[in-house]
Formats: sequence, structure tokens, C-alpha cells
Amino acid sequence: MATHQEKKPAGGRKHQNMQNDTKTSQGQWGRAWEVDWFSLASILFLLMFAPLIVYYFIMSCAQYQCSLTDPLLDLLTGNKHLSDIWNNTPMLTYRAAGIYFLWVTFQVILYVSIPDFCHKFLPGYVGGVQEGAVTPAGVVNKYEINGLQAWIITHVLWFANASCFHFFSPTIIFDNWIPLLWCANILGYAVSTFAMIKGYFFPTNAKDCKFTGNFFYDYMMGIEFNPRIGKWFDFKLFFNGRPGIVAWTLINLSFAAKQRELYGEVTNSMVLVNVLQGIYVLDFFWNEAWYLKTIDICHDHFGWYLGWGDCVWLPYLYTLQGLYLVYHPVQLCTAHAAGVLLLGLLGYYIFRATNHQKDLFRRTNGNCRIWGRKPEYIECSYVSVDGTRYYSKLMTSGFWGWARHFNYTGDLMGSLAYCLACGFEHLLPYFYIVYMTILLTHRCVRDEHRCSSKYGRDWERYTAAVPRRLLPGVF
Ligand code: NDP
Repeated sequence: MATHQEKKPAGGRKHQNMQNDTKTSQGQWGRAWEVDWFSLASILFLLMFAPLIVYYFIMSCAQYQCSLTDPLLDLLTGNKHLSDIWNNTPMLTYRAAGIYFLWVTFQVILYVSIPDFCHKFLPGYVGGVQEGAVTPAGVVNKYEINGLQAWIITHVLWFANASCFHFFSPTIIFDNWIPLLWCANILGYAVSTFAMIKGYFFPTNAKDCKFTGNFFYDYMMGIEFNPRIGKWFDFKLFFNGRPGIVAWTLINLSFAAKQRELYGEVTNSMVLVNVLQGIYVLDFFWNEAWYLKTIDICHDHFGWYLGWGDCVWLPYLYTLQGLYLVYHPVQLCTAHAAGVLLLGLLGYYIFRATNHQKDLFRRTNGNCRIWGRKPEYIECSYVSVDGTRYYSKLMTSGFWGWARHFNYTGDLMGSLAYCLACGFEHLLPYFYIVYMTILLTHRCVRDEHRCSSKYGRDWERYTAAVPRRLLPGVF
């Protein structure tokens, strides 16, 4: 590999194994340059049916008290026609368009024009300008991390309005839920289409673009890696975190307000869903700098999958439990509620501790302590598109010695807790755990495929040292 430049992280030891399979890892890791039939079929399926799935779930709540089977039965028995269901669906309104426009504009302003001040007074919080990971083209992007600040300002204003100003009702989101769905779709499609055109005609970094030659694949999975407008408006960071994730907790609060308006009380299940999902959202913003090192930012290109997914799929389907509880106000017995809380907190602990271990390990280049001991690891190397060789480490102790994706396991436990908070009467609130299981298992496979082509034989050594993916001894 005489033509390769060689780089090693500060304090890193030069790797001895230079036999890596660089043919596959030469700057192409994580990129499906050839689209197989299965991927294409899945993409076409999602492009056609994902918007319908979202509509079906939201419509079943609005028209069928969250029953997933009744709409189908009505249609199959001829009791109702598609047109009856559609005619009962609220259309786009000027009010919803105005709310949505103000919401997105407000989030853009918070993102681009207020530099982070939280890191100046919150001990342990990492905010302000931070660097992302090395892209396959060898670029290191800078990001303004100010999501926590945006979340706090938004929620302070929300509570100020609910308790003092009363400019709008806290049920505003629930009351406009379907008209807002059309607005979210318009933005989701607009931003994905814009990202595709931008990728062809004015990419931010041409070397980090991926063209497979398949129009549908490129539209879905994205062409540009890190599309930006100007120096700081990063599409992935903005659309992933805000407006969708900032909205998540507000949507739940709006559902709780609606429950109180309808039934005069907020049930313990609604409180549990608000608290557990609130912790997850707050964790996301507290760790936004860490998020720069996750797959979404480090490896995924920006297309419909992220653009539409962040605008529509996330705010509408991740909040199904709260929506369900508006229609079915479940009051849990103490043992059930305590069980849900325990599972949710344990899942969160595993999720956070596992992610933290890797973050600490990578930040300190292995010079840290995991569970009171020096971490064990496998040294590995990879090559970026310009031929530069980089060195890295894969940890094999702590939670990362139990399974290769134990952070996903914690996430799944938390997701199950949200669903169990809704009782056992209907299937709809369980959609989330089914979806998360598919998402994270698929992500596991996708990530491992990428890591395998990035690290070659070093990855094989790692999988031999940590043989399970999600559950020690099982899978
Ligand atoms: P990870 O944070 O697990 O990142 C995987 C990357 O970490 C790999 O590509 C590799 O990157 C590096 N890595 C893998 N194994 C090791 C190791 N042993 N030691 C050091 N580094 C390693 O995955 P995600 O980005 O997918 O997930 C982050 C979190 O976000 C997870 O907890 C997940 O549950 C959550 N999540 C939640 C979603 C939701 O919708 N709620 C969606 C997606 C994720 P490298 O190339 O740097 O070596």
C-alpha cells in the first residue's frame, strides 16, 4: 500500500496488520454502489406504502377508535368504500398550514441564528461548534450544536403559553393532527426532492456524493452525504433533530392536554408515556454532539428516507401511544405502572450506558476505564477515498463485550415499555416495538455490512471476539 498516506489518531499505536482487504474498503464503505433487486423492491414498497401506512394509523384512530382491523373489515364487507373514509378525513386547512409554517420557521431561526449558550453554564454538556466524523472523502464537517437550547426555549414558551398567556390551546396539535399531516408530507417530499436536485446540480461536497444510477434508490437513500445551505445549515442535523424530535415531546403534551379536556384527568399511562419518551428526547439533545458520531450522521446519505422520515414518519408514528391514550384513557394498576417504569428506566440505562462507553472509549482513544478496568479492544484500520489510511479501535469489553449492539437492546426495552403502558386492548400502540425491532435489526445488518467492508479482516477478528449481535448467547 505504498501509495497510501498513513494517519493515526493521537496516542494511537501503528497497526501491525496491513493485510486488510482494501479493495472493498477503499473509501466505499457504507455505500451500495450496486443496487440489488431486494433493495430495489423494498425501496419501491416503502415509497409507495409508507405514506399510506402513516395515514392508515392516524385515520384508524380518528375514525375507528384506534382499531386497526375495523377499517379493513368495513372495506372488505362493503360496509364502507374508500371514498367514505377519505370523505371523512379532514383536509389541509389554512390554519394548519400557518401553524406548520410558523413552527418550522421558528425552529430554523433557533437553529441558525442563536449560537449555543447552554454549554457555558451546564456542567458536562457539550454544545457549540463541534466536529463530525471523517467522511469517506476525508472531510470533517463542523456543526453548531444548539439543539438542547432550541428544545428548552420551545418548551419554556409552550408552558408559558399554557399557564399564562393562553394565545393558543395546548390541544392545538391534537386538534389539527390530520391537517398538519398534509403539511408535514409537503415538507417531507419538498425537502427530499430538493436534496436530489441539489445533489445533481450544486452539491456541497461532490466527492461525498453517491450515484448508483438507479433513480428510485438515489431518491430514497440520498445522493449527497452532508447537504448544506451556507456554512451552517446542515440538512441532516436539522431535519433529524428539529422539527421532528423537538416536536415529539410537545405532541405528547398536547395529547395529555386533550385527555384532560375530554375526561377531566390525565391517566398514569399518559404520564408514563410522557415521562419515558421525554427522557429519551432530552437524552438526545443532551447528547447531540455524540449524535454526530451515530450512523444517521456518519454514514447515511440524505434522501427521502431521512427527509420524509424525519418530517412525517417520526412525529406521527413515534407518538402513537399518546394518541391512542386520548381515545382509550388507560388507568394502570400500581404494579403494572411500576413494571412499565422499571422496564423503561432499565432500557434507558442500558441504552445510555452502552452508548456512553463507546463514546468515552473513542474520545479517549482507549485511555479510559470501563467498569473500573482498562478497556479491551481490537485495533483496526481503513482507507478513505483519497487513499489515506486511518487507524481505529473496536472495544470488546464492557457492554460492547456482551453483544455488538447492546445499545439497540436497551433501546428496544425502552420501546417495549412505552407500548406496555397502553394496556393490552389494541394492537396499534404495539406498532412501535414491531417497527423498532425491524429498524434496529436491519440497522444492525446494514452497519455490520458497512463495517465489514470498511475494516475487512479486522472486523472478522472483532466478530469472533464478540459473536452476538443483540443478546449475549442468543442472537
Ligand atoms: P452505534 O452508535 O452502535 O454506532 C455503530 C458504529 O459504531 C459502527 O458503525 C462503528 O463505527 C462503531 N462501532 C461498532 N462497534 C464498535 C465497538 N465495539 N467499539 C467502538 N466502536 C464501534 O449505532 P447507531 O448510530 O445506529 O445508534 C446510536 C443509538 O441511536 C443507538 O442506541 C440506537 O438504539 C439509537 N437509534 C435510535 C433510533 C430511533 O429511531 N429511536 C434510530 C436509530 C438509532 P466506526 O465506523 O466509527 O467504527
